[in-house]
Amino acid sequence: MPKEYSKSLANCLCFYNPQPSDKNTCASNAMKKALILAQSLFISSMQCATIRPMKHHKLIIIGSGPAGYTAAIYAGRAELSPLVAAGPEPGGQLTTTTEVENFPGFPNGIVGPDLMQAMRDQATKFGTEVVDASVTKVNLKSTPLSITIGDEEHTTDCVIIATGASALWLGQTNEQRLRGKGVSACATCDGFFFKGKAVAVVGGGDAAMEEATFLTKFANHVTVLVRSDKLRASKPMIKRAEENPKITIRYNTVVTDILGEATVTGLKLKHVIDSTEEELPVGGLFLAIGHRPNTDVFRDQLELDQKGYIVIQNQVLTSIPGVFVAGDVADYRYRQAITAAGWGCMAALEAEKFLSHKE
Ligand code: NDP
Repeated sequence: MPKEYSKSLANCLCFYNPQPSDKNTCASNAMKKALILAQSLFISSMQCATIRPMKHHKLIIIGSGPAGYTAAIYAGRAELSPLVAAGPEPGGQLTTTTEVENFPGFPNGIVGPDLMQAMRDQATKFGTEVVDASVTKVNLKSTPLSITIGDEEHTTDCVIIATGASALWLGQTNEQRLRGKGVSACATCDGFFFKGKAVAVVGGGDAAMEEATFLTKFANHVTVLVRSDKLRASKPMIKRAEENPKITIRYNTVVTDILGEATVTGLKLKHVIDSTEEELPVGGLFLAIGHRPNTDVFRDQLELDQKGYIVIQNQVLTSIPGVFVAGDVADYRYRQAITAAGWGCMAALEAEKFLSHKE
C-alpha cells in the first residue's frame, strides 16, 4: 500500500478532528486510523480489481459420466452451448474400470477411460465447454439458477444434474491396489472376466444376491460373505440365490485382507462370533455393499430420498422448473453406463424443450 496514501488520509482525519487537544497525539492517532482505513480501502480496491463478471449460460450440466456427456452431446447439437462441470473424477466411474464390453457399438470392447474421452471429444466437438472442477454451491431457488464451480459463480436458465453415485468400498489397503485386477464393484461390468474361477461377493442386500446369481454364469463358485447373521435382500432374491447350487452364503464373516500381487488370489476372512480366521482362495472379489449418490451439494435445495438419491418426477424432472436429473444420481436400480447415457439424452431433450418455451 502506498505510504503517501496513509499520510494524506492522516492529515484529512486530523483536519476533521473537532477539538484536537494535542496536535501530536492527534497526528499519531490519526496516522493509525488512516493506516487501518487505507489498508481496508486498498484491500477492497484489489478485490474489486479481481472480481470476475458472472457468466450466464443457457444450460449447465453437472457431472461428466455417460449421463453428463450424452446430455452435452445432445444439447451441443441443439446449439445450447452447454457448460459441463466435470467434477472431482472427470469421466466418472468408468474411468476407473478397465475393459467395457457391454457398451453398444464396440464389438471388441473398449477401455473405460478411452470411452469417456471419446464421449468428451464428441461433446466438445458440438460446442460444449468442459471445466475440470467441482460444483461447490448451488442456488436452485433463485432465478436465474446459480451454480458455483470451484470459486466462480455462474448463472444459468437450466441445469442437468448428472453427478452419479459412488460405489462404497471396504476401505482396506489392498482394495484400491487390486481394483480392476480382481476387485470390482460391478458384476455386470466385470463378471465375464472370471470364467471358471471361484469368486466372492461381499454384502447381504438385493445387489449382492443379484450379483452373486449373475456371476454364476461365469464363475464356477460364488461365496457370498455377509457380515451379520441376516440378509437385507428381498425374499425372492434370497430364494433364487439360496437355490443356486453354485452359491454358498456365509454369515457373520468379514474380509480382513485381500491377497495377491498382480491379481487377486484369495481373501483373509474372520468369523465375527468366534474370531477364527481362515484364507479363502478366490480369483475375484465383488463388493455389493451399497452406493452413495453424489448429492451433498443439493441437500437443502432438492428433495432427496432416505438414501440421498434425488427424487424425480416423470423420469427426468424435479420439483424446480429448469432443473433436470440424469443417471445414477437418481437410479439405484440399473446403474449401467448405457442406461445413464440414455437418461442423459432424455434430460437434454427436456431441457431443450424447456428453453424453447422460455424464449
Ligand atoms: P443395501 O444397502 O440394501 O445393502 C447393503 C448390504 O451391504 C447390507 O447387507 C449391509 O450389511 C452390507 N454392508 C454394508 N457395508 C458393509 C461393509 N463395510 N462390510 C460388509 N458388508 C457391508 O444396498 P444394495 O446395493 O444391495 O441395494 C440398494 C437398493 O437398491 C435397495 O433398495 C435394493 O432393494 C435396490 N436394488 C434392487 C435391485 C433389484 O430390484 N433388482 C437390485 C439391486 C439393488 P448390513 O445389513 O449388516 O448393514
